[in-house]
Amino acid sequence: MKCLPRNHVRLAKGNTLHDSHAEVLVLRAFNRLLLEECRRLLEAPMESQNTIVQWRRAPNTPGSSTDGPPFTIRHGTRIIMYSSEAPCGDASMELIIEKQGDPTPWMQTAAETSESSAQDPALFGRGYFSQLGVVRRKPARPDAPETFSKSCSDKLAMKQCSSVLSSITSPFIYPGSAYIHTLVIPESQYRPEACSRAFGPDGRLRPIVGDGVFLEDGYSFSPYSVQTTSHEFEWSRRSIPTDYRPSACNTALIATATSHEVIVGGTLQGRKQFNPRGASKVSRRSMWTLAATVARLLHNPMIDEAMAGPTYANLKSSELLLGRRELLDVVKSKALSGWIPNDGDEDFSLQEK
Ligand SMILES: [Zn+2]
Repeated sequence: MKCLPRNHVRLAKGNTLHDSHAEVLVLRAFNRLLLEECRRLLEAPMESQNTIVQWRRAPNTPGSSTDGPPFTIRHGTRIIMYSSEAPCGDASMELIIEKQGDPTPWMQTAAETSESSAQDPALFGRGYFSQLGVVRRKPARPDAPETFSKSCSDKLAMKQCSSVLSSITSPFIYPGSAYIHTLVIPESQYRPEACSRAFGPDGRLRPIVGDGVFLEDGYSFSPYSVQTTSHEFEWSRRSIPTDYRPSACNTALIATATSHEVIVGGTLQGRKQFNPRGASKVSRRSMWTLAATVARLLHNPMIDEAMAGPTYANLKSSELLLGRRELLDVVKSKALSGWIPNDGDEDFSLQEK
């Protein structure tokens, strides 16, 4: 399983990843890399010429604690994301429909309508594919336990509004510098109507275009362009012999310029799931630990206060993240309705594991 079932989320205590889809892991790894670069800039400023991150203003400028994040992504840097498959959820619904014996989208029956709306607002995985442009939960086998992790299409759509920065990284780095410029997928995976509906300004995100909530803190609605490549990943289903029957792999590799980890079930390979010693470098706990270190080096009272917790829930509800929270709420209410929270893993602290 690549996502924690809903009833296991409370066991994670920041140690276990909720969602191990590749798109999610790479975004978490990128946030880790950026935060590590912030630490490098603070610890050894003269040796950090090759960082993606740079100071936004001179270090220790008086009054800097109220001027927003002290770092930015280097001017002129473009963030380009490659995925060897169309992101699961809305951007891949046409591909799923084409695989059916009859490729005509299903007409929804009255029974389906009442069942899907009674079930809960976020549709489950690949089901109800007559409905397009909606928030979906992660696809899984029908007999798999329920998960509340949203599809990669939905999470990537949200990143066009919130930037690639996570809530832990956003106090440090200017969000205006951190939007994905281009998403690249194989030609075979690209359906223009699906991508413009899932991500484009004329698709499901149209209601938030020009919304005033984006006017502050460097946030904007920044739709990326979706480009294609004729190259296929050598281990994709489309590259292997047709008589070979592949099955999904639950092992993931997270590799950055500074480290790599193998993840199984949201935990480091070889460790028990939910064990603190199995916490990935990109887990909530590890990211918060690093962020707290960076905050101490910064001597920025507002960031220090937010990172002090004492619980992860306190951090997420801190005043420093208020603008970001409001923005996410507007996007969920106007454009990505049905975005149900996957909560239950917020009441842990760094002191108690
Ligand atoms: Zn996915």
